[in-house]
Amino acid sequence: MKKIGFIGLGIMGSRMAINLQKAGFSLIIYNRTKEKANNLLNNGAMWVDTPKDVAQNADIIITMLSTPEIVKEVALGYQGFLSSFRDNSLWINCSTVNPSFTREMESSAKKIGIRYLDAPVAGTKRPAENGELLFLIGGDTSSINEAAPLFNSMGKKTLHLGKVGAGASMKMLINQLLGQSMVAFAEAMVMGEAMGLEKDTLFNVLLNTPVVAPVISTIRPKIENADYEANFPLKWIQKDLHLSSICAYEHNVAAPNLNTTKEIFAQAKQQGYGDLDFTAVYKYLNLKK
Ligand code: NAP
Repeated sequence: MKKIGFIGLGIMGSRMAINLQKAGFSLIIYNRTKEKANNLLNNGAMWVDTPKDVAQNADIIITMLSTPEIVKEVALGYQGFLSSFRDNSLWINCSTVNPSFTREMESSAKKIGIRYLDAPVAGTKRPAENGELLFLIGGDTSSINEAAPLFNSMGKKTLHLGKVGAGASMKMLINQLLGQSMVAFAEAMVMGEAMGLEKDTLFNVLLNTPVVAPVISTIRPKIENADYEANFPLKWIQKDLHLSSICAYEHNVAAPNLNTTKEIFAQAKQQGYGDLDFTAVYKYLNLKK
């Protein structure tokens, strides 16, 4: 059986890696903060001290890291894994990054004979835990087929969307709509409450109209219970909207709504909401209360 390297054991990566382990894959793991690997280590994963060491021990590497800058550092920086990876090995990047960046990583990999898949995910903490993620994939069919048992262990569905960059492109659009839907709903709630409508009534009525995005029903308990422990950190939706904005610039597309939404999350982050769940933008917009 192929040895799987996993780098990035945060909210998402730690859960994805556990599902791989449950499916019987032997893992070689690295994370900046070692304590987050404890569960995996207790269940037999092999710890190594650098990303480079992962490459020296694995046939396939999955990365689930925060930002393009960190992906680049872990792949190509000091002790980065890419240059130590064996010829024809496979790098599956599940981190949310922008399409032009993902193509840059593919090109760096290709130059030294490494195959690359662009494989961001839709779904948050719970779907990651339950192996119910949706993989949005760009890359060649034979690598995708080779990695299918991995995707099937971590997710419920895999969509092959085209060449490298296509997965990241779709992911940009999904999170753009997620951020915009969240802000639109939060703003309506704050206004409804200001007009004297009960919070409960607002949820019950608005969520039963077709004008509210279906995702809002799933995050209702977060807002209702003021439970802002991060499933999806606010700083990462702001990062994703920033990456979408880069795409808009690169494609000469005006995206005023996207950029306004991005700046609302940026303001919330500046006010100290970055590590809370992205739904805390409701709390930020509702500061009067
Ligand atoms: P997270 O919990 O913040 O994890 C981020 C990971 O990146 C951790 O492993 C972290 O290491 C690592 N990292 C950060 N800065 C680093 C540095 N300077 N050097 C080395 N490693 C560093 O985030 P997450 O929610 O799992 O998200 C991971 C990726 O998935 C992001 O691209 C995010 O946009 C995307 N995503 C998230 C969700 C979600 O709902 N949470 C859903 C879909 C996609 P440490 O553990 O040491 O901090």
